[in-house]
Amino acid sequence: MPTPISRSEAQAAGLTHYYTHKSCKHGHLSRRYVANGQCVICARANALNYRNRDRQNYNSKMRTYRKGNPQLRKREQLRAKMYAPLFKKQHQIRLKKVSENPFMPENSLFLARRMVHGSRSRAKQRKVLHTIYAQDILPLPSHCPILGVELSYGQISHRGRSCHASLDEIIVGEGYVPGNVAIISIRANTLKSNITLSEIAQLYKYIERKPDD
Ligand SMILES: [Zn+2]
Repeated sequence: MPTPISRSEAQAAGLTHYYTHKSCKHGHLSRRYVANGQCVICARANALNYRNRDRQNYNSKMRTYRKGNPQLRKREQLRAKMYAPLFKKQHQIRLKKVSENPFMPENSLFLARRMVHGSRSRAKQRKVLHTIYAQDILPLPSHCPILGVELSYGQISHRGRSCHASLDEIIVGEGYVPGNVAIISIRANTLKSNITLSEIAQLYKYIERKPDD
């Protein structure tokens, strides 16, 4: 817990946040903004709500805002560079913890975000459409829908690699859009990779054929 400081004291000291031992009307015992007295947790929830109400609109608004304020981007880049090692370490620690219990809602969200983050950069590289968000792949399945094996999430162990969850673009080339993605095992994803239906038939015929045919 931060040390209590009144709003006026914080303002005099040039701080952006203050903290009293009183909770907000929603029961959060958290820091508040000097600027408007709002509780940090409430503000974060409001921002998330606002963003999710109309995501496309929000994104385009933010894009325009960033274009008009290039200095913000510079500052963000500097900060990102400065904190990168710390964030990476924190992420690894959280990932390890989350892997133990992937179906707890907040853990699932963390893992889904991570998977979508990965698919977004793959989509960008391959220049295919990507319009899904973490919410679109929740809830996480416990088993691979193709092979039926139990899926593991989060940290990949070498032994369990084939049973690890991966995000599949069902029809390759159509992009990561709602309805064209599924969570399947790495094994199934590798087998599928970019095989066509007629290739599957040929392969099946080849394996099924007895040696003396
Ligand atoms: Zn609050």
